[in-house]
Amino acid sequence: MSTRLLERLMFAQGGLCFFCRAPLSPGEASVEHLVATANGGNNHDDNCVVCCKTLNALLGSMSLKEKIRVILNQRGEFECPNRKGPHKSITAPAASRAAVSHASKSVTEKLALIVADLKKRGTARPRTVKTLNSTISALFQKQLPEAEISSLIEKLCARGVVTINGTKVSYELPPRNA
Ligand SMILES: [Zn+2]
Repeated sequence: MSTRLLERLMFAQGGLCFFCRAPLSPGEASVEHLVATANGGNNHDDNCVVCCKTLNALLGSMSLKEKIRVILNQRGEFECPNRKGPHKSITAPAASRAAVSHASKSVTEKLALIVADLKKRGTARPRTVKTLNSTISALFQKQLPEAEISSLIEKLCARGVVTINGTKVSYELPPRNA
């Protein structure tokens, strides 16, 4: 594998990882073959990107289809595995980042957050549909549209976590650590 290919791709990508767009230090940069050489992929610029070493190792010789699935599974919040650590604070102040990522989480993650929050509240849980609405809204820094909050509550009902009787709400929360 030629160093010049790496340098060329680094230049074309503005020195950023192709996938997570974090600045790449020379020690972290590695050439990822989109179609793996093991699967017949070539060494041309068209088939190569520069990305973080840890991601390159993770993708290994997955098929292009599997790689695309891995990328789509991140739902637009792609972070290479090595970015889970202390690197995070470099890209954005922690508070604003948390606020943004909370509201852009997947439905499953949002439901998990809501259930965790309700558990924490113990007996101080919202007793009416209205207060449940505002509790969920506050949990997501008031960034969720009302329609989405209603849809989340419907899903909680469908899962049997929340039962709505008129304007009153009761809960059947899964036990801790279940
Ligand atoms: Zn990366």
